[in-house]
Amino acid sequence: MLSISHTLTGAFIATKLPIPVVYFPLIMASHYIEDWIPHWDVGTGLSSGKRKKMTAIILEFGELFISVGLVYFFFQHGHTEIQWHAWIGAFIGLLPDFMEAPRNFLHWEPAFLKPINNLHALFHHSTPDILFGLAPQAITIAAIWLLR
Ligand SMILES: [Zn+2]
Repeated sequence: MLSISHTLTGAFIATKLPIPVVYFPLIMASHYIEDWIPHWDVGTGLSSGKRKKMTAIILEFGELFISVGLVYFFFQHGHTEIQWHAWIGAFIGLLPDFMEAPRNFLHWEPAFLKPINNLHALFHHSTPDILFGLAPQAITIAAIWLLR
């Protein structure tokens, strides 16, 4: 899914259950479950060659920027103290994608990451249909906004 979906989900779980040993596995599981839902994201088309790597990288940086803004707006805005759990949760929400980035973009993969990246790939279902692929993410983000 989009980084926006993963970061907001991570921040949501971490702020609702603000105990790191509890939210770390839950957020990791949420990433795999969200990726299992057919979705569209900036990496869609990379494996088939329809999307260029450079385009995906540029879009990803833009999307990370938006993600930080939304985590701020959803979870930090209105608080004077830093909402650490929200920010840590957002980061954990992206961990599976960060661990896979060297393999996708540099053709380099440390051996210890191979099993976890293979697991990630096993769960990943994307669709080239942008509307169909964004709908479950829009619903997720709206639900987080309402329940946060
Ligand atoms: Zn992923």
